[in-house]
Parts: sequence; C-alpha cells; structure tokens
Amino acid sequence: MTPPTSCALTIAGSDSGGGAGIQADLKTFAAHRVHGLSALAALTAQHTRGVTAVHVPDTGFLRAQIDACFEDFEVGVVKLGMLASADVIRAVAAAIEHHRPAHVVLDPVMVATSGARLLEADALDALRTYLLPLATLLTPNLPEAELLLDRRVADHMAMRAALEPLRALGPAAVLLKGGHLEGSDDVVDLLDDRTTVHVMSHPRLDVSAHGTGCTLASAIAARLCLGLDLPDSCRAATDYVHEALRRGYRPGRSATVVLDHF
Ligand code: PLP
Repeated sequence: MTPPTSCALTIAGSDSGGGAGIQADLKTFAAHRVHGLSALAALTAQHTRGVTAVHVPDTGFLRAQIDACFEDFEVGVVKLGMLASADVIRAVAAAIEHHRPAHVVLDPVMVATSGARLLEADALDALRTYLLPLATLLTPNLPEAELLLDRRVADHMAMRAALEPLRALGPAAVLLKGGHLEGSDDVVDLLDDRTTVHVMSHPRLDVSAHGTGCTLASAIAARLCLGLDLPDSCRAATDYVHEALRRGYRPGRSATVVLDHF
C-alpha cells in the first residue's frame, strides 16, 4: 500500500470508549489512507452506555494544537465535531478565519444518542453566528436541524423544505441526514449544494449504533481531501457508513454497536 499523501484535521471531542468523536474520526481517516491530525476541543469519559464526565481544555491550548497542525502540514480539510461551549466555538472560528482551509465540514454535534448534552445550551447562538458562515458543508441530523431552525422536521417533505433555511444560516452546502425519521425502510439523506438536491438512500439497519455521525462527516472530509467533489464525497461516505455499520460489532456490555472501519 502507498503511504497517505493528504492530511485531514479533526477538531472535536475525545470518546474514551473509542466509538465516536476524535477516535472514530482518526480511524475513518486511516481507513481512507488520509493522514489524520487532531485538536482536542473536549474530552469525554464515556462508554457504550453513555457519557459520565466532560472536560473542556482552555481555548489557548486548543488554539496551540490547531496552529501546530497548520504550521507543519498541508491541511486539505478541517472536520469539526463536538465543540462543547461558546468559548470553544469562538476560538475555533478565529483559527479557521486565520488559516483558511479549503474545506470545513461542520458536524453540529449537540446531543449524543445516549441523551448526553455535548454542546452547552447557550452555545447555539455562537454556532449560528461564528461557525455556520465558515462551513463549506453542514451535516445536521434531524434533531440538530430542528434546534438550528427552531421548528419540527418530521417527514421527507419537511426535510426538503428545511434545506433552504439551513443554507440561509450560512454554510455553502447542507447534508441533511434522515436517519432519525422513523417508520421508513430506507434512510434517506439529502445534499443541497446550492445547484442540485442529491438524494442518497440506504436500507435501514436495525441496530442501536454509536459514532455514525462522526464517521460520516470524517468519511466526507477524507474523500474531499483525496480530491473528490462534494456530491461524490457524500455518496461514497454514506455508502461507507452503511457498510461499516453492517459490519458493526459490540465492544462493550450494552447492545450498542460501534462501526467497523474497513
Ligand atoms: N462523544 C463524542 C465525543 C462525540 O463527538 C459524539 C458525536 O458526535 C458522541 C459522543 C455521540 O455519538 P453518538 O450520538 O453516535 O452516540
């Protein structure tokens, strides 16, 4: 195998259980033969049953991690995950404005599947004001889209109707993930790249899983880093998550599955 030649940077939270967050991001980058860089914006004590503690390092140290990556590596894409607080969001936005990476994939992580809060309640405004306008792609799931828009997104029609107002918040493109829509045999994701709405559909897998959102955003980032365009990156990344989930395994004591990165 040839060594990786491109670098992707994840700025996100650590998951001590290894299923989500920075750990999922780095595994995804490695599986795509992309060199993974990381800046830890938050640390979680976590297993497959939930989050037991969160620690947020100071923003000066976060900025030092980001600057160290840009000083030595050609960073092709930045992927943003759990950012925890308004202060962290402002620090990350300032770093992105300074370094100006070509692609910024923003996974607006707010609440874990287990119910744990991963973004402080008062940080939503900071996300809207400082980060959404810097994103080249925003990847909300339906609960996150509802919080960003302050309205229900309860079916496929509502998903389509939510694309325009989500784009109006500033990102260049939006991938709205339909996994939380109950009662359909397929998971449908919609990519609005401002010219076209691309539809991606996969059979729903009947598992309780952990780390799918992080993995999807990282797989898109990895493909962009390798030079694919946005629609091809999103299509390949949704295929990748589906397959990684199909191969998923249970490393902990709960029924929760983590993805097998292949
Ligand atoms: N922990 C961290 C650090 C995360 O970044 C995320 C999601 O992005 C989660 C946990 C939650 O993952 P899930 O909702 O898939 O359980």
